[in-house]
Amino acid sequence: MLSFEEALTTVRERLAAAEHRPGREVVPLGEARGRILAEDVLADRDYPPFHRSLRDGFAVRSQDVLTVPARLRLRGEIRAGEHFAGEIGTGECVSIMTGAPLPAGADAVVMVEHTQSPDDRVRIHRAVHSGENVVQQGSEARAGARVLPQGRRLGPGELGLLASVGKSQVPIFAQPVVAIIPTGDELVPVEKRPEWFQIRNSNAVSLSAQVAGAGGIPHCLAIAPDRPDALRSLIQEGLNADLLLLSGGVSAGKYDFVEQVLADLGAEFYFQSVALRPGKPLVFGRAAGKFFFGLPGNPVSTFVTFTLFARPTLAVLGGADFEAPLFLRARLDKSFQQRSGLTAFLPARLERPSADPVVSLVRWQGSGDLVGVAAANCFAVIHPEETSVAAGDWVDVMLKGPEY
Ligand code: AMP
Ligand code: MG
Repeated sequence: MLSFEEALTTVRERLAAAEHRPGREVVPLGEARGRILAEDVLADRDYPPFHRSLRDGFAVRSQDVLTVPARLRLRGEIRAGEHFAGEIGTGECVSIMTGAPLPAGADAVVMVEHTQSPDDRVRIHRAVHSGENVVQQGSEARAGARVLPQGRRLGPGELGLLASVGKSQVPIFAQPVVAIIPTGDELVPVEKRPEWFQIRNSNAVSLSAQVAGAGGIPHCLAIAPDRPDALRSLIQEGLNADLLLLSGGVSAGKYDFVEQVLADLGAEFYFQSVALRPGKPLVFGRAAGKFFFGLPGNPVSTFVTFTLFARPTLAVLGGADFEAPLFLRARLDKSFQQRSGLTAFLPARLERPSADPVVSLVRWQGSGDLVGVAAANCFAVIHPEETSVAAGDWVDVMLKGPEY
């Protein structure tokens, strides 16, 4: 059985070898949030485009204020959105506002707090070195320099940068369509009242939200009964999408038919279980040229295995880099023992009561317990070799994240 890390490497390598090329489209900037950039974006001019004052104050020649107090003659005022036509000579200064271009001849700005200006003579109380309180033209980016690479996911900061360089139309990659097939004779749609022995199909809902949050377009197919013939036609339909996610039917039960049906359809399997808890019976492979995951049906297993494996897969299918899950470190609040040989992802809460972050496990009943996951804001990650963790020991933590 592959370790969690080996399984993640397998997914990364299989995706890289497939050299997937998503389609491209162009959308208005206002519609580009969360999308993946399809081209490098270059600076259309220097950034900043001029030597920009960082402060409200006086633009000076630093040579003139080597010894303070110094008295300078006021030549005028420059507001943001204006520029000064003349040049500042020896012994002169100009009143300048934050964001305004430095006038020719000046090389620094003295903050207004360090000056007095009763009339057209300005008293400077503090010396400044050349360049102080000024952002040099082109220091953030030179005209023509790459400010965003192809493959970058566009969050608020990236969108602001696109706006500042004038990209009102943004080239982006098409979003991958993800087919979702829930399997299980016990499942009923959320709208339907379940018999006492039936279960509502919650995985299709959580998976759809996870797919959308990861930049994909969820396409939910019908609930597949635990019968090979019905499963087969749904899987064939699902393989029209860019990625197929199945939930349930991948354990060793008598009515777990997912792998058998995929095999009959000529699937290649890259792994069929991972040393992971929850989520051990996780299946990854390819059929009809499309990747698929058989996610274990228990809702927490489905949730965790999507986050760990399907989310980075979607990033690649969408034209971004493989976004492997990020772990932070925190101190575990209570001791913990395990002998499972598996990497455990335990619903937990991360807080910072004092200097160090502390992670505490929430009460949960195992891989079916969505109540526990909803109470958590992260997962504590306990690796197989960490058989005995003492209270206060540092452990890995994976944030649950609003977008997961
Ligand atoms: P399975 O992986 O098919 O053996 O299912 C494991 C457990 O997860 C069972 O208790 C199922 O009832 C439950 N389960 C499977 N699919 C879903 C689903 N779509 N929504 C909610 N629970 C599910
Ligand atoms: Mg089942």
